[in-house]
Amino acid sequence: VRKAGGDNILSLSESAHKKLSRKSIIEKRLLLALDQHNLKVLYQPQVDLKTGKIYAVEAFVRWEDEEIGVVSPDELIPVAEESGLINNIGSFMIEEACKQAAQWQQQGIELKVGINLSVREFRDKNMAKFILDTLMKTGCPANLVQLEITEKFALEAEAETTIIQQMRKLEEEGITFVLDDFGTGYASFRYMQLLPIQILKIDQTYIQSLTKSDKTQRLINGIVHFGKSMNLTVLAEGVETEEQKQLLEQYDCDAIQGYLISKPVTADKIPQLLSS
Ligand code: C2E
Ligand code: CA
Ligand code: CA
Ligand code: CA
Repeated sequence: VRKAGGDNILSLSESAHKKLSRKSIIEKRLLLALDQHNLKVLYQPQVDLKTGKIYAVEAFVRWEDEEIGVVSPDELIPVAEESGLINNIGSFMIEEACKQAAQWQQQGIELKVGINLSVREFRDKNMAKFILDTLMKTGCPANLVQLEITEKFALEAEAETTIIQQMRKLEEEGITFVLDDFGTGYASFRYMQLLPIQILKIDQTYIQSLTKSDKTQRLINGIVHFGKSMNLTVLAEGVETEEQKQLLEQYDCDAIQGYLISKPVTADKIPQLLSS
């Protein structure tokens, strides 16, 4: 018995060790990737259910390292948050997305761009200034930018006035805030009051069980109505089937995003999606 216990402790510390070294490898390679501009951006369209038209895209970071291969955002972002490199990823994403939106606008394509941001980035007192400077530099109008924050972000932001002040400043300038992954945290309703949020994005886990359960259907229907009564735009993410789309239409949901419309794609593929 004692021996088995000992083995357990050994294997635990072994896996902890592996995790640690994986983390430090990712950090090291990420630093290099940022330096050499090896990160990429993919864009996923969002469709207005009233008009059936694509009106916005969400930007996602993509990274394939030549030594460690593809590192998914779900692995990359937490490591970057811990090491502080998230600020570098954020700056890169903001610059790329604004540049892209401005470029599309020059081509006569008016598309909003969504950018995912971590709470840690807003702890930087210069965040709002950086975003506004980037708008100036790239020629991207503020009303084309949608900043996506999560409930975890909102929870932490609640206690931090620098974050809320910066959000208010950006909102005054015409930037839109999206509350992402709505329904996965707790006390979500508090944030609606406290933070300048205009769009509510229903988390994809709800959408994916939509056609499987009556209870989920009533829940989503309720969330859509709640959002609209708060004067928010309600968007559903992770829409994969026509059936899900039809239910959301029935509930009067404003917009959808998901594989049914398109997977995230490179910027050059977006114009052809608009006409199809
Ligand atoms: P998220 O912001 O909730 O993004 C939605 C995720 O679901 C994305 O995964 C997207 O590619 C995927 N997705 C989109 N449509 C569908 C669908 O119909 N079905 C399914 N099953 N999945 C769909 P991705 O790109 O791997 O990103 C995962 C998470 O990593 C994101 O969740 C976001 O929290 C974070 N993330 C991604 N890019 C960035 C970034 O540039 N900055 C920051 N701070 N976080 C990012
Ligand atoms: Ca998002
Ligand atoms: Ca989400
Ligand atoms: Ca998510």
